[in-house]
Amino acid sequence: MDIKENYTAIKNQLPADVQLVAVSKTHPVEAVQEVYDLGQKVFGENKVQELMEKHPLLPQDIQWHLIGHLQTNKVKYIAPFIDTIQSVDSEKLLAEISKEAGKCSRTVKVLLQVKIAAEESKFGLEIQDAKTLFQQYIDGEFPNVEIKGLMGMATFTDDEDQIKREFLILKQLFDELNQLKSLETLSMGMSDDFPTAIECGANSVRVGSAIFGRRDYSK
Ligand SMILES: *Cc1c(COP(=O)(O)O)cnc(C)c1O
Repeated sequence: MDIKENYTAIKNQLPADVQLVAVSKTHPVEAVQEVYDLGQKVFGENKVQELMEKHPLLPQDIQWHLIGHLQTNKVKYIAPFIDTIQSVDSEKLLAEISKEAGKCSRTVKVLLQVKIAAEESKFGLEIQDAKTLFQQYIDGEFPNVEIKGLMGMATFTDDEDQIKREFLILKQLFDELNQLKSLETLSMGMSDDFPTAIECGANSVRVGSAIFGRRDYSK
């Protein structure tokens, strides 16, 4: 399978109202360009350094999403151009994004990343902290960000019931916060679990290896 076949197959599986974020981390700009030329405009990267290298080499109308853990001291580098930061996992980070976005006279879209996986390794806000942060946002504390929704990653497991349970926890929180102030985006699901995520209410999925092929971390 090549990238074009992969991309077309994924697009054909996605309902029309589900957004695809093509996760291009570790893959060269030529591969990103190839998918862009097929009509894809939304791409995700997980590292600021890699995003900074790719951004100037690719079409300027790409909507870049940062999906990996973001350190506050790196926000300033991406604030001028980032479309959405999906990985907001602390109040400190949200405050920094709002500050740096303000300096660029921008409003940056963000998702709150919530920890739903059982694994210790995954980043994300605890449910209660996400609620508190959303209330602070409603109260006007972060004027230069727009919280668009929630992002979460399920446990890396073959146990489909567990994955479903975790996704449904995030869907429930999404519905609850949506009552307070309307939200648009529920970002759940990757190459291996996006059909399950969509079943559980995701309307945005982050797909990397199923489009670009396996990542080679040895390089
Ligand atoms: C790498 C990554 C993805 C994509 O993973 P694939 O399994 O390659 O589809 C999605 N979300 C996040 C946060 C990632 O870091």
